[in-house]
Amino acid sequence: MPLSVQLKTPITGEFTQPTGLWINNEWVEGVDKKSFEVINPTTEEVICSVSEATEKDVDLAVAAARKAFNGVWRTTTPQQRGIYLLKLAELAEKNLDLLAAVESLDNGKSITMARGDVGAVVGCLRYYGGWADKIEGKTIDINHETFHYTRQEPIGVCGQIIPWNFPLLMLAWKIGPALATGNTIVLKTAEQTPLSGLVFANLVKEAGFPPGVLNIISGIGKIAGAALSAHLDVDKIAFTGSTVVGRAIMKAAASSNLKKVTLELGGKSPNIVFNDADIEQAISWVNFGIYYNHGQCCCAGSRVYVQEGIYDKFIAAFKARAEQNAVGDPFDENTFQGPQVSQLQYDRIMGYIEEGKKDGATVEAGGERHGDKGYFIKPTIFTNVTPDMKIMREEIFGPVVAVAKFKTEEEVVALGNDSAYGLAAAVHTKDLNTAIRVSNDLRAGTVWVNSYNLLHHQLPFGGYKESGIGRELGEAALANYTQNKSVSIRLGGPLF
Ligand code: ADP
Repeated sequence: MPLSVQLKTPITGEFTQPTGLWINNEWVEGVDKKSFEVINPTTEEVICSVSEATEKDVDLAVAAARKAFNGVWRTTTPQQRGIYLLKLAELAEKNLDLLAAVESLDNGKSITMARGDVGAVVGCLRYYGGWADKIEGKTIDINHETFHYTRQEPIGVCGQIIPWNFPLLMLAWKIGPALATGNTIVLKTAEQTPLSGLVFANLVKEAGFPPGVLNIISGIGKIAGAALSAHLDVDKIAFTGSTVVGRAIMKAAASSNLKKVTLELGGKSPNIVFNDADIEQAISWVNFGIYYNHGQCCCAGSRVYVQEGIYDKFIAAFKARAEQNAVGDPFDENTFQGPQVSQLQYDRIMGYIEEGKKDGATVEAGGERHGDKGYFIKPTIFTNVTPDMKIMREEIFGPVVAVAKFKTEEEVVALGNDSAYGLAAAVHTKDLNTAIRVSNDLRAGTVWVNSYNLLHHQLPFGGYKESGIGRELGEAALANYTQNKSVSIRLGGPLF
């Protein structure tokens, strides 16, 4: 198995794609010499094969991270950690086109969206680079005989498991706060989309990070992911992905060494449009809320509730808007929606569309595949969806939205909160009082008013209820990667 292959994209021309495991700042083959194929979702053809990490490779990567944590990384100053992160951000910016093109090739997202993702990666790494030398403890005054202070210490070796919908962005969200606070990392990318993480790994060494601080491996969830979650020498596991896997990870953490756990999981987020909303604007945001990234967003606005006074007008205009979304080749600059990531995801989504039809919901737009090659699905709108239908209750993770009508604010707050999830929500209205009241009443980690999907690295993001544990981004994420140590000093005097 070679450690790199030559690939080509319309944006970059030929480039070298690493295919090994990135451990200790070196490319290595897996101990068992296993590999798996990476599929191009636009053509359904094999792009290349990459090394697959098994339990033995996870052990090696964790040992490298442990050695770096106990050794060089402990004595690296906070300021220097920040300098490394800023350099990494600069290198990601310099390689923006390459990283974006690899993301489009492997994930299928449009090149314009992929460039946006890499821009957000740069912003996130810079932001946490700035935090590195601002992690501070406190002095706590208790009495004259003692002196007390607290330190915010790193947790240690962190396992990080990321999904395929935003491969590079999820990597940045995870490594930024972990490195800023002095942890070392073994990060496993998703098996559907390992390529951009491997290109990014080359930048880690170039940025100056010492060996073992950030290890990046490709591997299968049930093998490498499970090994990382159950590992006895991993101090913390951070995961983004499905709620079902989140539960498995928490169980593995509980039954191994009670490693700390943070989870960013699924969603079925309500997007509420009141009679007094700016209807043109609301339609744009509802469209972007569900179809951005092909509906493959944990915070997708997949349940839309429209007040009865504007319902008919809204549906007609939303249908026209959805049908205008450009679906096609990710490398076409005008494309808005590319293919779904894999055959499995395509089949799951088409399964939900069939369920919706069978349950009696009305297909207003889409409801079928697009073209005859690649995992493309037309932007789909269902109306007449009742609260008990599967398409209203379960996360579809595709370009499929369930729309329902409501009468009163009280009713829509109850409908919005009628979900096991609580990741995000949105309210569209011109009335500030309604906006604030409803935002306060919705049980979700993020609420957008007159917008959707506006994420920013300065704003914490995470879930209420079954959508997760802990927060990513913002200052809040630092708390997930530090532990408090209280130091008490007795200033002499008798014991009692
Ligand atoms: P999806 O179903 O959308 O593919 P998953 O939650 O299965 O999302 O995958 C997200 C990440 O979790 C991927 O990196 C995947 O390899 C990993 N993963 C899947 N199953 C497990 C598991 N049992 N233990 C640890 N990680 C897993």
